[in-house]
Amino acid sequence: MRLHPWQRLGLALATALLIGGCATRVTTTEGGVPIDTSHTAQGQDSRAMFLVIHYTVADLPLSLHILTKQQVSAHYLLSDESPPRIFRLVDENRRAWHSGLSGWKGHRLLNASSIGIEIVHPGFKPGFDKQRIYQPFPKEQIDALIPLVKDIVQRHQIKPERILGHGEVTPSYKEDPGPTFPWKLLADLGITPPWPDAQLVAQQQAIFATALPDAAWFQAALAQHGYVIERSGLWDEQTRRVMMNFQMRYRPANYSGQPDAETAALLHVLTVPGPIPGVAPSAALPPVLPVPLPSGD
Ligand SMILES: [Zn+2]
Repeated sequence: MRLHPWQRLGLALATALLIGGCATRVTTTEGGVPIDTSHTAQGQDSRAMFLVIHYTVADLPLSLHILTKQQVSAHYLLSDESPPRIFRLVDENRRAWHSGLSGWKGHRLLNASSIGIEIVHPGFKPGFDKQRIYQPFPKEQIDALIPLVKDIVQRHQIKPERILGHGEVTPSYKEDPGPTFPWKLLADLGITPPWPDAQLVAQQQAIFATALPDAAWFQAALAQHGYVIERSGLWDEQTRRVMMNFQMRYRPANYSGQPDAETAALLHVLTVPGPIPGVAPSAALPPVLPVPLPSGD
């Protein structure tokens, strides 16, 4: 084997230092460039800051084909077999192509900063009047998903509020994993942030039922929660899509995308820090705090 001059230098240095008993540690890159690894920076973390959950709308063979042979991919694919299998399709240190034009709380294009899990699932089937009947997730599949999510989150120290569905980070054209995904179970298990307190939501709902906030209020609250949303002040299609995705996660019994007092109450409880008992939100002063600048973390 012919060594590159740098490789020879690296080898010579490593040998000399080994003999000398010095604390300096020399290795080489895979390309043979000599590297001293005796200092490590404290200021570092994983590149994976988000976990994004999807469903495939395809059976296992088609899902495997699409995710391995086409221009889309995910780090993991969870099958719908019994028992389910978990395939790793992309190394966690590399980018998988699953999140498209995504964003959350000032972060954009999350493929670079996320781990993606695809779940083999049919999505919805058409019912009467073209109504969408979203299919349930088998318990066995969710039981297989939860340890995988826990493992990824623990290793990469992903914050609970950064475990998201594809529809949340790309609301304009996605809604997976849909309204049947058990977000509340993940919250109850402590994997995702605590579920909005039912009593607080009921209190706020009674207040909002007397005066429903306008589109600008909803847009500000949805943006503060994390969504990428244009503050148009109008009940436009982009707002309906974001509302629908919010409702699919927090109020899956009705995900029309239309504003109502319960949705306002859920948003209020999720975005206003701490309960303010007895303080009614004013119509003139929106109860949602100004959207903070991205923290940069
Ligand atoms: Zn997706």
